[in-house]
Amino acid sequence: MSDHAHPPEHHHHGDAPSTVRPPKQEQEDASTEITEVAPGILRSQLPISMPGLGHVNCYLLEDERGLAVVDPGLPGDESWDALGDRLGRAGFKVADVHTIVVTHSHPDHFGGAIRLRYETDADIVTHETFRTMWQEAELDDEEDSATLDVNSVDDRAAALERYFSRPNPWGGARSGPPPEFLERMRAAGESMGGAFAVPSPTRPLTDGQTIKLARREWVAMHTPGHTYDHLCLLDPEHGVVLTGDHVLPSITPHISGMSPQSDPLAEFFASLIRMEELHDVTIALPAHGHPFEDLGGRARHIIEHHEDRLDIIRDAQEQLPNGTVDDFMRVLFRERSWGEMAESETYAHLEHLRELGELSRSDTGGFAHYAPTG
Ligand SMILES: [Zn+2]
Repeated sequence: MSDHAHPPEHHHHGDAPSTVRPPKQEQEDASTEITEVAPGILRSQLPISMPGLGHVNCYLLEDERGLAVVDPGLPGDESWDALGDRLGRAGFKVADVHTIVVTHSHPDHFGGAIRLRYETDADIVTHETFRTMWQEAELDDEEDSATLDVNSVDDRAAALERYFSRPNPWGGARSGPPPEFLERMRAAGESMGGAFAVPSPTRPLTDGQTIKLARREWVAMHTPGHTYDHLCLLDPEHGVVLTGDHVLPSITPHISGMSPQSDPLAEFFASLIRMEELHDVTIALPAHGHPFEDLGGRARHIIEHHEDRLDIIRDAQEQLPNGTVDDFMRVLFRERSWGEMAESETYAHLEHLRELGELSRSDTGGFAHYAPTG
């Protein structure tokens, strides 16, 4: 499973080579502490262990009916037990949850939703396009999309196997989930709705639609980039924004070239500009790391980070007049980050330059090559 994490933010210029970096706030272990970050909104943290990430924030939105939870963490007992613990510390129980908001289709955000719905019958709120990469690929293949039953564990395992057996869009083999993962997934069966199942939204939102949670009215903002289905929620009256992974305080979310869209980086820029243009933001509540205030400034910083990377590719054209994704990855990323995620993100940048008309692509020897146009 390679599409869900976040490579460390990398400043290519003027960065002294150092081996000891202070830990990023997104890497901090999940604290058991509950903090009120705005009236009726509590921050709790659930443990995750992913590259660059130590916790996921599960926000608890309180109202007269009980609670909505935002991003209830990974599947599995460890996260489930932590969620029960955090709800208890906040003075609630599992049965109080009436709504589950999932910001996007990565397992550290949706993984806990199935069991939570199984236990509470809570609504599941997502953007209307919510689906995982491998579901998306299946839908592309199927004449009749209704034949894909993601709630069958064997179908799910088979779909994952099919997805990862395809070549990468830039050539070369995909590093799929290890066979043991698929074994475990099949063995987990359907108890609790299936440990690795993907939830089906019961309240899919479109951009601009509103929903009432924590006695506030939230506006749904579709913010494709990190994933196509990414959802942010804005409380315009109080300037509170649930940013998911779209804008994180000190790392940049992974931009995957595996997206079904032709230019996910362009979509990410547009979604960041929407954040920059919000007025009167008082607090941004990210899915990892600490709440922060300067949402617009942070969005601008992330745009500039990617603009810098595009410039690095432009500058590398001379040495790499017909380079592969792997060649450019070695220029963009430090060696410790090399791998499929870095390749995928490099691919997204190269395809963006191709869409801008600056690069042309040819496929030779099973790999995409990029050359300057004109
Ligand atoms: Zn995440």
